[in-house]
Amino acid sequence: MTEYRLPDHLREAQHYINGGPAPSSGSTTIAVLDPATGQQIATTPAGTTADLDLAVDAAHTAFRSGTWSQLSGRERSRVLIRVAQLFREQAEELAQVESLDVGKPISLARAVDVNTAADTYEYAASLAQNLDGAVRRTPLPAHAYTQREPLGVVAAITPFNFPLILSTSKIAVALAAGNTVVHKPAEDTPLSALLTARLLTEAGVPDGVYNVVTGYGTDLGDHLTAHPRVAKVAFTGSTQTGARVAAVAGQALRPITAELGGNAANIIFADADLAKAVETTISAFVFNTGQFCMGGPRLLVERPVYDQVLEALAGAIPHVPFGDPRDPGTVIGPLANRRQLEKVAAAVEQAKVTGARVVTGGELAEINGGFFYRPTVLADVANSAEAVQQEIFGPVLTVQPFDTEREAIELANSTDYGLASGIQTGNISRAHRVADSLDAGIIWVNAWGMLDPAMPFGGVKSSGWGRENGPEQLEAYTRTKSVIIAIEPAPEPTTNSTASTVSTGKDAS
Ligand code: NAD
Repeated sequence: MTEYRLPDHLREAQHYINGGPAPSSGSTTIAVLDPATGQQIATTPAGTTADLDLAVDAAHTAFRSGTWSQLSGRERSRVLIRVAQLFREQAEELAQVESLDVGKPISLARAVDVNTAADTYEYAASLAQNLDGAVRRTPLPAHAYTQREPLGVVAAITPFNFPLILSTSKIAVALAAGNTVVHKPAEDTPLSALLTARLLTEAGVPDGVYNVVTGYGTDLGDHLTAHPRVAKVAFTGSTQTGARVAAVAGQALRPITAELGGNAANIIFADADLAKAVETTISAFVFNTGQFCMGGPRLLVERPVYDQVLEALAGAIPHVPFGDPRDPGTVIGPLANRRQLEKVAAAVEQAKVTGARVVTGGELAEINGGFFYRPTVLADVANSAEAVQQEIFGPVLTVQPFDTEREAIELANSTDYGLASGIQTGNISRAHRVADSLDAGIIWVNAWGMLDPAMPFGGVKSSGWGRENGPEQLEAYTRTKSVIIAIEPAPEPTTNSTASTVSTGKDAS
């Protein structure tokens, strides 16, 4: 394998403001580490609030100038299509950067992250051409219609696990609607945002329309969220940080969308195709090394097949390729940072203390100094255990038995989260019944993780509010204006008006 080398502009990165790299007003930097080795691969500025002000001003000026916001939807659509083309042309570079930055298996970055981002720009291009309003028939003496307008500057704040996809799901729709963006990526994984900025400029997105400020959320988050020139906040991250962002945004009367934590239940009924259900279960909890908000870390299994499923998991999981993310055969790589590694290890230790049985894994793996944790299955976990109730966000599966459909639904809905859920069954009526009863924004039946830019996702309960993807997302990135134009009544006919004289055909004489 030839070692990929980051380009210089990413190794010693700057912010990206007003169409080009911009230095920070501060001198502190953040070391970006390769999660597969723990070694430093890049530095980015630990941005300051002054840097943010500069970026917000650039975005605000760009919005006001109309170079983007006043283009027709079709013109914006053409640029977004060009962005998608550039993403496809630069796919290998984007995949390498994402893999190096997040520790993501390179095959996953190639097959999923880059393609999804390109698809999302293409889908957003179609939305840009369909920002229609509606004529409303009212009893008013008026012609009344609505139109959709962009909001202004959108602040995008994104997490470490899917940096490219989750920034794209905000940038693409924001730009489609005519907004401008200031983006603060996660401090651990900022590189694909900086690469995206260059590609957007190359595609013809005008200067100042997309800006990136790197840095710590704790330093920058409140300032960005409450900034008087920010019109909307699009946040994805943990429930805990989301609550903070919502509080600050509430105080500033700033609308937000919040895509927060998840802890989905995957339910295997005894009537499922068990071999396929086990395969689906494994991919649902190891996908992206378990750092998938819509992953399936809680397995509920109908009691008659409980032991059989556990046995199948114990047999299969040690054979899932685990290790160097640069190896194209690798399915499970390292966790994205040391903080996450420590969190996962602590959660498993805590589960063991409370009586969970380790079926496989349950320990760190010493590989090249990277942040590796073995894929782990914990059986017989009490529903009240922290490992079940709290999001672990690593390659850890808890398994619980159930006896009835009702009990499965109750267990599935028993946490504070509600982002996704899965049902493995051979009974179509049961699939509909159970899907109807689960508290989650997206449900998969005999599948896991299938997503498309046309299908909305988002949370219920503590998993947040608002939807990304689909036409529904436009609601959060546009506002509706009503225009009511008075229509004067027709003038009364006058007797000597020639226009109102109707010939009777008779001679009046
Ligand atoms: P995090 O909440 O720690 O950080 C997310 C972002 O918020 C980062 O950019 C961070 O710098 C920033 N931030 C930190 N403090 C802030 C503050 N006070 N104000 C504003 N921003 C602040 O999350 P993380 O650890 O990077 O990501 C993992 C979490 O994200 C998990 O809980 C996961 O479930 C969730 N997630 C949710 C979705 C979804 O679509 N619902 C998708 C991916 C990840």
